[in-house]
Amino acid sequence: MSIKNNIHSILNSIPENVSLIAVSKTKPVSTILEAYNAGQRAFGENKIQEMASKYEELPKDIEWHMIGHLQSNKVKHMAHFVHLIHGVDSFKTLIEINKQALKHNRIINCLLQLKIAKEDTKFGLSKLDLEHIVSSEEFTNLKNINIKGFMGMATFTKDKSIIRAEFKALQNINSIFQKSNTFNFNPSIVSLGMSDDYKIAIEEGSTMIRVGSLIFGERNYL
Ligand SMILES: *Cc1c(COP(=O)(O)O)cnc(C)c1O
Repeated sequence: MSIKNNIHSILNSIPENVSLIAVSKTKPVSTILEAYNAGQRAFGENKIQEMASKYEELPKDIEWHMIGHLQSNKVKHMAHFVHLIHGVDSFKTLIEINKQALKHNRIINCLLQLKIAKEDTKFGLSKLDLEHIVSSEEFTNLKNINIKGFMGMATFTKDKSIIRAEFKALQNINSIFQKSNTFNFNPSIVSLGMSDDYKIAIEEGSTMIRVGSLIFGERNYL
């Protein structure tokens, strides 16, 4: 199977309202170009500096999605071009994103990462954290960010019932908060699902899937 075929077979198997982010972390620009030439424009990376150097080298109509855990001090390296930041999991990071966005006179779109997996290694906000953030006075001062929805990662397990229950939990929170709309909080995107679980994610309301190995093959970590 070629990258082109992989992309097209995924696109053919998902509803029109679901968008595909091709997760290109660890892959060279030549490989990303293959996907680009097959029509793919949205790419996801999990390291800010790796994404920034790929941005420099690749066509400028690519939408770059930051899907990894964020270090506040590195936000400045992507503030001028990032399309959507998926993994925002603290108020501190949100304040830094707002500050860097202001410097570039941009509004940066973000998703808040919710902790749905039981594993300690997975990051994310609880429903209570989320309530505190969006109801705070300080949040209304963040004029250069726009929260467009939520992101989650399920527990790493073969047990599909656990994965499904975790996706449902995120969708539950989403349905509560989707009613609230302010100038910087407009949840409509649900970023859920990877190579192994994107079908379940779509059944549970995902509107954005993040797929790497199914498109590009297994990753080789050095
Ligand atoms: C690596 C990664 C993906 C893609 O994983 P695959 O199993 O290769 O599809 C999706 N989301 C996040 C946050 C990732 O880090």
